[in-house]
Amino acid sequence: MATRRKISSKSAPSSPPVSVITGAAGFLGSHLTDLLLAKGHKVVGIDNLVTGSVANIEHLAGNPNFRFIQQDVTEFLFFDGPVNYVWHFASPASPVDYALLPIQTLKVGSLGTHKALGLAKEKGARFLLTSTSEVYGDPLVHPQTEDYWGNVNTIGPRGCYDESKRFAEAITMAYHRQHKLETRIVRIFNTYGPRMRLKDGRVVPAFVSQALRNEPITVFGAGKQTRSFCYCSDLIEGIYRLMMSDYPLPVNIGNPREMTMLEFAREIIAATGSKSKITFKPLPVDDPKQRKPDITLARKLLGWEPQVELADGLARTIEYFRRKI
Ligand code: UDP
Repeated sequence: MATRRKISSKSAPSSPPVSVITGAAGFLGSHLTDLLLAKGHKVVGIDNLVTGSVANIEHLAGNPNFRFIQQDVTEFLFFDGPVNYVWHFASPASPVDYALLPIQTLKVGSLGTHKALGLAKEKGARFLLTSTSEVYGDPLVHPQTEDYWGNVNTIGPRGCYDESKRFAEAITMAYHRQHKLETRIVRIFNTYGPRMRLKDGRVVPAFVSQALRNEPITVFGAGKQTRSFCYCSDLIEGIYRLMMSDYPLPVNIGNPREMTMLEFAREIIAATGSKSKITFKPLPVDDPKQRKPDITLARKLLGWEPQVELADGLARTIEYFRRKI
């Protein structure tokens, strides 16, 4: 009689990786959820739906590989079973939201990051923090490289977001150094695409919805301030590659194509075929004058750079907003 050979762990079918995503019902969290499910992960999504929306994940209802938990990530996170990756995406992310939710913004970046790190430590999972170009504040170095320490007004209207993310980076590095946790930090620059909230106040939903309604386009200040816009699928691909890399220090992910807000307004008018005129409104306090990522590190480390041209990304975004308006 043939003896049964022990199946070595190498030949045993490996179980799918398990990912926990905080902010899974948000703009970027929901796109990450889709990518990970497509790559064969089991995904547990957490969101308190303060700025996230069930509409962003409703297409996943009934998917056996996706589980949704409505919870505030600043509270203790408990799960049975293994977790391989924790992706901490939860946070308000627009200047209008920071003004409405300054305490929630501070809490999710500080207490929420602490809880998400605690979960990763408990499970021996790898942790990724979504940090932001806002850690550079109103930058005095241009374009922004990861070794720039920033120029942030702690007590201004954006301080709640900027400082919570700076704290989040600090505690992530502390868990890495003290607990030897495997950690990753991405600094996300302006990103756009379907599933942004129509009324979140950010420039892409604002300009596109104004253009689609043929209403005046509200350019703040003289419109000379610059931003660089990355399409969501490019950003999520960069973040995925970073998680799978072995690099624990911050990495910029964004599109280096920089433009003024006046140029951007004209681009949106042309892309939508709108009759809108441009109107000028006061510049918000501490609005960064220029912003453009230096992505040399991401190119070298991850072999990553943006693929989607602004015209193509805008066409997809405009199509989405047309259906929402
Ligand atoms: N902005 C604008 N009109 C708007 C909304 C925003 O001119 O209706 C400008 C804003 O002053 C900033 C840029 O667009 O310079 C990007 O703003 P957003 O709120 O999208 O994000 P930020 O990059 O400032 O965090």
